[in-house]
Amino acid sequence: MEERFLAQARELIADSFAMDAHFDLAMDLDDRRELGAVRVYSDRHDGLVRAGGWNCLVSSLFIHSWQIPEMALRKALDQISALISEEREQPDKIALCGSMSEVDAANAGGRVGIMVSFEGADPLGCDIRLLQAFYRLGVRALGLTWSRRNYAADGCSFRPRKEGTRGGLTDFGIALLEEAERLGMVIDVSHLNDEGVTDAARHASRPFIASHSNCRALVPVMRNLTDEQIKLIAAKGGVIGMNCASPFVSSDVRDDIGAMELSSHIDHIVSLAGDDCVGLGLDCCDRLADYHVSVPNIKSYDTIPDHSHLPMLAAVLLEKGFGEDSVRKIIGGNFRRVYREITG
Ligand SMILES: [Zn+2]
Repeated sequence: MEERFLAQARELIADSFAMDAHFDLAMDLDDRRELGAVRVYSDRHDGLVRAGGWNCLVSSLFIHSWQIPEMALRKALDQISALISEEREQPDKIALCGSMSEVDAANAGGRVGIMVSFEGADPLGCDIRLLQAFYRLGVRALGLTWSRRNYAADGCSFRPRKEGTRGGLTDFGIALLEEAERLGMVIDVSHLNDEGVTDAARHASRPFIASHSNCRALVPVMRNLTDEQIKLIAAKGGVIGMNCASPFVSSDVRDDIGAMELSSHIDHIVSLAGDDCVGLGLDCCDRLADYHVSVPNIKSYDTIPDHSHLPMLAAVLLEKGFGEDSVRKIIGGNFRRVYREITG
């Protein structure tokens, strides 16, 4: 990497809007606070997020399979509560936001805007009435399921597994999608199986996103999107967030897979559907509290080591010949457009 591209990237990011559409921040905060930690954001994340130049992070609410069903609702509320506590402790650093206008206000005050999303509707059980309550608590995006079956949908697998007969969205899932659109939540199809993506596209009346999914044409795993699905999302004005988790970035198992390999997924989507439908949903996991529990025996899961490496990724794109306008859209402009349209 030539230094001039890195310098150009830093300059560009400084006057751009950078947004990570998927980060399990709330889970990390809650896990560490449960053990007595406070000001976890300052200790663990603030320096890296600032060094990267980020304006907005979408924090998912993630529920482990072993917490379902009894603890799903409780953990979602615990994670929101952890975010609220952290905001109260560090009002100069982060602000929980319910709209892009609020993110702008937070940024103007030197704070990073945090938005909240469901990574699976499991906390709702099959009670659609709870969705509006979570909207009031600040949740602004709905992933219908993580990679498992729930009342709303079937999930897709990370790797081949024994499966029963697959389904798409359930009646409850469709009703939930419609209710989320009515409330002003962004629909997120990452982790749905193919049938579910087709159903979501059919029933969505507004732009929808895949917050953290790559290209199946490059890495043939079900967590990645087919070319057809990419075109479907683009045609509705939606955005696909590039996921830096190594199993979705490359089929090779090597330690030196990084921004260059991740950028090939961006190349593929841009050549297929243009540069208005690509964003970042990095899903950085290596630094999360429960990472070593859930992914044993892997040295590094992330191909972008942490949030401070955004300039490196932007520099790779510039070096490849992407124009500055294109890079601005990819690092946050596109997700900003969809979130602004849906959340205000
Ligand atoms: Zn995920």
